[in-house]
Amino acid sequence: MRITGTTRVTGIFGWPVGHSVSPPMQNAAFKALALDYCYVPFAVHPDALSSAVEAIRALNLRGVNITIPHKERVMAHLDTIDAEAAFVGAVNTVVNDGGRLTGYNTDGRGFMQSLAEQAIDLDGKDVFMVGAGGAARAVGYYVVQKARSLVLYGRTMERVERLAEDLRKIGGTVSVSRDAKDLGRYYLIIQATPLGLYDADPLPVDADLLEKGQVVYDLVYKKTKLLREARKRGCVALAGDGMLLWQGALAFELWTGRKPDIDAMRRALRRTLG
Ligand code: NAP
Repeated sequence: MRITGTTRVTGIFGWPVGHSVSPPMQNAAFKALALDYCYVPFAVHPDALSSAVEAIRALNLRGVNITIPHKERVMAHLDTIDAEAAFVGAVNTVVNDGGRLTGYNTDGRGFMQSLAEQAIDLDGKDVFMVGAGGAARAVGYYVVQKARSLVLYGRTMERVERLAEDLRKIGGTVSVSRDAKDLGRYYLIIQATPLGLYDADPLPVDADLLEKGQVVYDLVYKKTKLLREARKRGCVALAGDGMLLWQGALAFELWTGRKPDIDAMRRALRRTLG
């Protein structure tokens, strides 16, 4: 990579940030299109978030990704929040247009693009989702716009009920499951909790209820126990690296106005995730 006097700088704010897989993925994308951009990690302590956001303007950064623990708190420091990010209550991408900062959340669209890439169409389909946090909100926002129905299930029922209510307000046909006992009837099952990150984690749902041919999508980046069990039962098993790839591709597009070379990004992501 050649850094010149005109190189546009992008990056990621997180604490910690050392585990982020975005720098190699985004830099590979800039390189593939020979764009004069670079992407760097910024370890931003929670106490320094406000001054770090001010530095986007002061240093004329083109934009940044935002990760844990800043995704919610950053919103108060931006000039504009797009509709999806406002619904989710979290921003993962900031664009700087001449000092005016806009916050986006590309997770939900990234999820949908990763389905489209696998020729999975939710039109007229029934979907089940475990979890009611930020990722479930982002994904749910788009799922209800396509699917016939969405059933939500999770640990803290008040949070699940609140997400169901919010998704109904944007036109979704959404209900809540208390026991996740009828899993076999859904076209797609989405796992949107951190369960599965560690092999010792319990399964988020009973894998014996899965039926051959169902699609099981785990938002956790790796091949989780749930995905292994799903594959054994003849399901289509998808891991969260697809969503990770596409949310990054959408951020790239917001900063550069160009569609990235998705295969260059995918190769870099695979090399990093191992
Ligand atoms: P979050 O806002 O903290 O929400 C986590 C959700 O999981 C909540 O509904 C929470 O329930 C539930 N949960 C947490 N621990 C649980 C447990 N031990 N048992 C049952 N439920 C549990 O987190 P998030 O941002 O939504 O992220 C969720 C997962 O998605 C993470 O693994 C994250 O890495 C992944 N993710 C992937 C991508 C991608 O690009 N692939 C993007 C974003 C997130 P309570 O309400 O009861 O706490």
